[in-house]
Amino acid sequence: MITAIRAGQLIDGKGGPPLRDAVVLVEGQQLKAVGQGIPVPSDAEVVDLSDLTLLPGFVDAHTHISIIPGLGDQIGQLKQGPVPQLMRVVGNVRRMLRSGVTTARIMGEEHFLDVDVRKGIEAGLFVGPRLVISTRPITPSNGHGAALTLSDGSDEVRRTARQNLKAGADFLKLFATGGMSSSVGVDKVCFGDAEIAAIVEEAERGGTYVAAHAHGGMGMRKSLELGVRTIEHAALADPELIELAIKKNAWLVGNFAIGFHPDGIEKGDFHIPEIREKVLRARQVRRKVWGDILKSGVRWALGTDSMHGYLPFEAKMVVEFGAGNMDAIMGMTSRAAQVARVDDRVGTIEAGKYADLVGVRGDPTLDIEALTQVGFLMKDGKRYDHLSID
Ligand SMILES: [Zn+2]
Repeated sequence: MITAIRAGQLIDGKGGPPLRDAVVLVEGQQLKAVGQGIPVPSDAEVVDLSDLTLLPGFVDAHTHISIIPGLGDQIGQLKQGPVPQLMRVVGNVRRMLRSGVTTARIMGEEHFLDVDVRKGIEAGLFVGPRLVISTRPITPSNGHGAALTLSDGSDEVRRTARQNLKAGADFLKLFATGGMSSSVGVDKVCFGDAEIAAIVEEAERGGTYVAAHAHGGMGMRKSLELGVRTIEHAALADPELIELAIKKNAWLVGNFAIGFHPDGIEKGDFHIPEIREKVLRARQVRRKVWGDILKSGVRWALGTDSMHGYLPFEAKMVVEFGAGNMDAIMGMTSRAAQVARVDDRVGTIEAGKYADLVGVRGDPTLDIEALTQVGFLMKDGKRYDHLSID
C-alpha cells in the first residue's frame, strides 16, 4: 500500500530552499520517493497537505524520559524506583511524539529504564519517539548527575561502561562538570583524566562514542582533549573552547528551555538560592556564548533536556541568539540525527529513510513559531496526528 502525500511546501532538512507543491510517496515504514512532479500511483491513498509545510520528523538531540523539570529535584526523580519513574515516562514520551519528535537521544536513566521503554514503544504498548539510548549516567560519587549508579576510578567506570553497552546502550554519557539543577558547581570538574580516557576507550572498543555533560572550563577542555564526541550544554564555553571543539570535530548540543522557560528549573527549583543564582547567571551569558558558537562554524544541534514538547522553543531561542530559521530547523532534524548517529535512517526527507514526517501550519522559514503548529504527524509510516494534546 502506497500513501501519496501532497505538501504545499516541503523542507527536506538538507538546507536547500523549500520545495513548492511536492509529493512524498510512503510505502510501509519507508519513504519511497520525494520531489516535485512525481507520478502518483493510481491505487495510492492520497493525503492532501497542500495547506501545510512538511518537514522531517523532529529529532531531540538531548533529553531524558523520566524527568519533569517543573517537579523539581531532577536527581531525586532519577533516584526513585522504576514504577514512580515510569508513571512520568508514559506522558513524557507521548508529549514528545505529539510535538513532532519522532526520534530522541536519551541522555541518562537509572534502572536501564530506557532499554525497557524502548522495547515498550516498539511493541506498541504506548506511544513515543524512536529512542537512541545511553542507559545509566556515568558519574563519580561527588559529581553532578549522581543518582543511583556511581562510578569512581578507572576500573569502576569501565565496569559501568561495559554493563551499559551490554544492556543495549547506543553510546555512553558521562558528567564532566557540575550542572544547573544540583548543588555541584558548574565549574567543578568531576572525573580525573584517566577516568574520562577509560570511558572513551570503552566506547571506541564498543564501536561507539562518548557524550559529556560539560558547561565549559576545564571539564569541557579535558573532555575534548580526551576524545569525547559530543559536548552537552556548553552554556559557559569560551572562544578558545569553541576553537578546540572545531579542531576536534566535536558537536555542541544546546538546551535552552530548561533554563529560560518558566516551566523549567524556574518552576521546580528556584526556591533553592544556589540553583536560582546559577540559572540566572547562565541566562545572562548564554546570548554571548551562543552568539560566539553560531559565528564560529562549530557543529551544533538542539535538545530539550527533559522539556518534553518544547523542541520548537529551542529553535526559537537559537534564532534569537542569531541562527537563521533554516539553520535552526536543521539543528532539530538533520544535524540532530547526525549527533545521534542515526542520519542514515532519519533527519531528512529522502527516499529510503524512515517515513517520519511532520506537517505544520505556516512557513517556519519565515516564522519559526510555526513549528509549534503541528497538523500532520507520521512516524514509521504510521499517523499520530489524532493524539490529543494534554
Ligand atoms: Zn540532560
